[in-house]
Amino acid sequence: MDTYDVIIIGAGIVGSALGAVLGRDGRRVLVLERDLTEPDRIVGELLQPGGCKALEELGLSDCLVGIDAIPTYGYGILHSDQTIMIPYNDLEDPTISQGIAKTDLDSDPKKLLTGRSFHHGRFIQKLRQACASAPGTELKEATVTDLIYCEMTGKVIGIECIQRLGGPEGSKTKHQYLGSVTVSADGCFSKFRKQALARPVTSTSNFVGLILQDCPLPFPNHGHVVITKRSPSLLYQIGTRETRLLVNIPGKLPSTSNGDLKRYMQAEVLSDLPKSLHSCFLQALENDRLRSMPNSYLAPSTSSIDGLIVLGDAMNMRHPLTGGGMTVGLKDVALLRKLLSPQALPDLAATDMVMAQIQCFHWSRKYYSSTVNILAQALYALFSASPEDTLMVYLQNACMAYFQQGGSCISGPVGLLSG
Ligand SMILES: Cc1cc2nc3c(=O)[nH]c(=O)nc-3n(C[C@H](O)[C@H](O)[C@H](O)COP(=O)(O)OP(=O)(O)OC[C@H]3O[C@@H](n4cnc5c(N)ncnc54)[C@H](O)[C@@H]3O)c2cc1C
Repeated sequence: MDTYDVIIIGAGIVGSALGAVLGRDGRRVLVLERDLTEPDRIVGELLQPGGCKALEELGLSDCLVGIDAIPTYGYGILHSDQTIMIPYNDLEDPTISQGIAKTDLDSDPKKLLTGRSFHHGRFIQKLRQACASAPGTELKEATVTDLIYCEMTGKVIGIECIQRLGGPEGSKTKHQYLGSVTVSADGCFSKFRKQALARPVTSTSNFVGLILQDCPLPFPNHGHVVITKRSPSLLYQIGTRETRLLVNIPGKLPSTSNGDLKRYMQAEVLSDLPKSLHSCFLQALENDRLRSMPNSYLAPSTSSIDGLIVLGDAMNMRHPLTGGGMTVGLKDVALLRKLLSPQALPDLAATDMVMAQIQCFHWSRKYYSSTVNILAQALYALFSASPEDTLMVYLQNACMAYFQQGGSCISGPVGLLSG
């Protein structure tokens, strides 16, 4: 049976980045992903400046090049008839935050001070290429079905998976691989976190996603938050011609199959959007498939099982309104890389020392993850206040008035949000 230093379940944002850096650091790594074709998802499309910096620190910033990524310079908030511009901090050149499009990433002098928005699948494929080409890493298409436990100690010592040999029509075969450490980075619907974490996942709303073509955004090169009486929506360009719209729908989602969701979008959402977007929105409603994802919250915790680390969305989630998930995930990879480096931990089979480093990881990550998590949950509660909740509406208006002050009333919050 093949043995590795680290087995990673899932080659999404976190698994691919971790596989790339651990392999470059001299570890023998196996990354298993159930589907290596380019994902087509409505998640993970805007990377905050802090995430871009983390990517740079990991030596992976090339993954943002050649994917038609759009530089983002901050946010625009549309609230009733007010608009508020919230530029990211440290932009020395004010013309940039006024929305002058600069899409050539390689010649962008502000590379580290901006965010990027893109097609999620294109970014993932770049991360997977980096992962597969790392000297110590193998990336295989396989669905992990079970963890293998040591009968004596209860420690996780590897995984069992199903691999399809010889293309999509090939036969399915079962394989087992052993590893000193197994990392479950299998995303928001994680199968393996249930065995290791006690905390529950809660979801109170869904984002419904559409792609608008050639859409004239009020603030080019900015994320847009449209705050309405009903719920917030997000808009940002993800390619030269495509703009992502995410509509937050609280409670039970209307059915897609009987057309209720489409009717809801026409009746409830259209009038909330700026008039300049109406024709793009109606066209997208006709031509694009309505897709949804639950917006979940999961407080972070450490695995109770020796030999198993749970990471990424499998371990910690917050409402995606503030686009913080990838930034936290990439910062986690950077921190874990240091804690598991061959200098810090020569032998990954020393389980007690690995688990001690994981405790250290749990506490050390709080300074960046808590800020993003709390801000995401708090802003979502504020921006989705129901009109009947007069106190929350009062707070919402106060928040807008605060942002209108400019200066540190903007640079403070956006500094926290941008990671
Ligand atoms: C609607 C929505 C919008 C979002 N928008 C943003 C945003 O704009 N910016 C941002 O920073 N964050 C955003 N997020 C959050 C972000 O998408 C996640 O934080 C990020 O994708 C988490 O990365 P991950 O590697 O943990 O999981 P994923 O990227 O989901 O990767 C998990 C991988 O595991 C694989 N896998 C699962 N099970 C198995 C198995 N049994 N065997 C093998 N492979 C398996 C999956 O195929 C997948 O490739 C959004 C989230 C939602 C819900």
